[in-house]
Amino acid sequence: MKRVHRFYSDNLFLRATAVISTDVVREMCTIQKAGPLAAMALGRAVTGAVLMAAQLRDKQVVALHFRGNGPLGSVYAEASYEGECRGWCDQPNASVPFKDGRIDVAAGLGIGLLNVIRSQPFEKAPHVGTVELVTSEIGDDIAYYMQQSHQTSSVIALGVVLDSQGQVEVAGGVLIELMPGATESTIGDLEAAVTAAKPLAEMLVAGSNAIQLLKNLTGSIPMNPSEHPFDLKYSCRCNQDRAERSINMLGREEIKEMIAKSESSKIRCDFCGRHYTISFDRLREMLANFDRMN
Ligand SMILES: [Zn+2]
Repeated sequence: MKRVHRFYSDNLFLRATAVISTDVVREMCTIQKAGPLAAMALGRAVTGAVLMAAQLRDKQVVALHFRGNGPLGSVYAEASYEGECRGWCDQPNASVPFKDGRIDVAAGLGIGLLNVIRSQPFEKAPHVGTVELVTSEIGDDIAYYMQQSHQTSSVIALGVVLDSQGQVEVAGGVLIELMPGATESTIGDLEAAVTAAKPLAEMLVAGSNAIQLLKNLTGSIPMNPSEHPFDLKYSCRCNQDRAERSINMLGREEIKEMIAKSESSKIRCDFCGRHYTISFDRLREMLANFDRMN
């Protein structure tokens, strides 16, 4: 099973996470029926989310919501500390012209905003931070958010490599954070290592594991593993109750129309593709509840 690997440097000035996320990115792209552009964007976003989430605490969840004006529309990815993740994209079949022979994720997202939503159990409202998209390449935008919202400098590399059919061949990433008080010498060592590093895509295609992805960016800086015993898995928390609530949120008139048109309502979860049926009787109960409230 694949896990997010956590590390810290000897002097504790650096902490890092690294992952090979191929399996979950593939599963997500299949569920989302993602074309090549959406696969690149969603794959980077969900890889970024799992790297960030592994640095949180028990049961905490981080969600990244990229809202650009490009043809992809919204790109959303979410991950928990325990390695559960999921993602979703408005326009999974969107495409844009290649740029220098590559899929142009920045043009796919366009300009816009990144919302980062951090939530934890027993907390009434989640913490939401918003920044403008700086390059719309996803990794840079996450780094910018961390700098703006948490005053944390970071190095982040996210990669998705597609095969000639546009399917996910391999995906992975690394997030390195500079902790408060990091010395000039540590910063210098990290900068030198990053400058000398091989491109992430090259490392991924060569079959590197998470530790090798990290070492590629930290060079000779001694890094130690830190316990994080959770398997990465694509997972959705949708259920019948949530499905009914989402129908309820459509409001009285919509529900009335559904009752007039058919015997039941079917909805499909955007994250996992699961289907839910809201029975005719249940729709009538919902309508009665609306009428009782007024
Ligand atoms: Zn679901």
